[in-house]
Amino acid sequence: MALTGKVIESTGKWYKVEANGEVTSCRLPGRFRLNSAEVTNPVTVGDRVDISIGDDQTGIITHIHDRDNFLPRQATHGRRGEQILAANIDRAWAVVSVRQPALKTGFLDRFLVACEAYGIPASILINKTDLASKRDWKQLEALRELYSGLGYPVHVASIHNSESIEELKTALDGHTNVFIGPSGVGKTSLLNCLKPGADLTVGDISGYSNKGKHTTTVARLLRIGDAGYIVDTPGIRELGLVNIEPYELSLYYPEMLKPRENCKFNNCTHSHEPGCGVSAAFEAGEIHPERYFSYLNILESL
Ligand code: GDP
Ligand code: ZN
Repeated sequence: MALTGKVIESTGKWYKVEANGEVTSCRLPGRFRLNSAEVTNPVTVGDRVDISIGDDQTGIITHIHDRDNFLPRQATHGRRGEQILAANIDRAWAVVSVRQPALKTGFLDRFLVACEAYGIPASILINKTDLASKRDWKQLEALRELYSGLGYPVHVASIHNSESIEELKTALDGHTNVFIGPSGVGKTSLLNCLKPGADLTVGDISGYSNKGKHTTTVARLLRIGDAGYIVDTPGIRELGLVNIEPYELSLYYPEMLKPRENCKFNNCTHSHEPGCGVSAAFEAGEIHPERYFSYLNILESL
């Protein structure tokens, strides 16, 4: 029987595929590995695949559908190529906390640039609002105004506020989501609230043993609500920027798209060049100073 489904778990050897509400353990024929020299894992969680189920109730993956988007990570330990952490992500969430650790907008802007570059819709989730002072709340409101004005929804939550967890669950349902954020902001705690009983004992696993051999590492989608998922894959909770050229960076700042059309040089980096539309827009107060300074910071780091 042939079916189309979604990969919800991968050990690199076996793939659990959910199709029509049933989960089938599947194998991947070797030819798919030969065809994909640039990636270390040809199939990842979130992939849509066709499967054929045999008499023993296990399946074979017969076709991998094109991806809407994917999150790559540079493969480590001398292996060539990219590792794909997850595919077909509906929304990436930058998870930060009001305090402990304090909120850093630099992280948010890097995250948003990466999401724009990878074509993944992005939201911001500010956790630990139970620790927020009156002054913190004022800052949160300003932050919400800035980022939601740029098209990035801003949510707040606390694991000690069940109403906020229910609201979050509603926002996650029906989509494949990924949580990304610094350690200590409460990602594991939130997942445990959203999915009581989930076996979240994922530590800092690179996917490779110290001998440089590939070890079995489970990547999976955690089911939240009726039809929502959160990617739970080692290495996915923090995200780096890859392969962005300096002159491209402003393409990933939505508020710079129009102003950059007025730049005199088409490879303008909007940092020191004369006749720059972006710095003119900044001078005119049309680009928020924090965003322009974060842009310059990221530019410097590229
Ligand atoms: P992770 O590293 O992002 O996965 O963060 P953890 O889930 O391990 O949480 C780090 C610490 O923050 C733990 O001590 C949690 O109990 C605490 N924490 C998580 N969420 C909240 C929250 O909403 N409010 C408060 N006050 N503490 C929280
Ligand atoms: Zn410019």
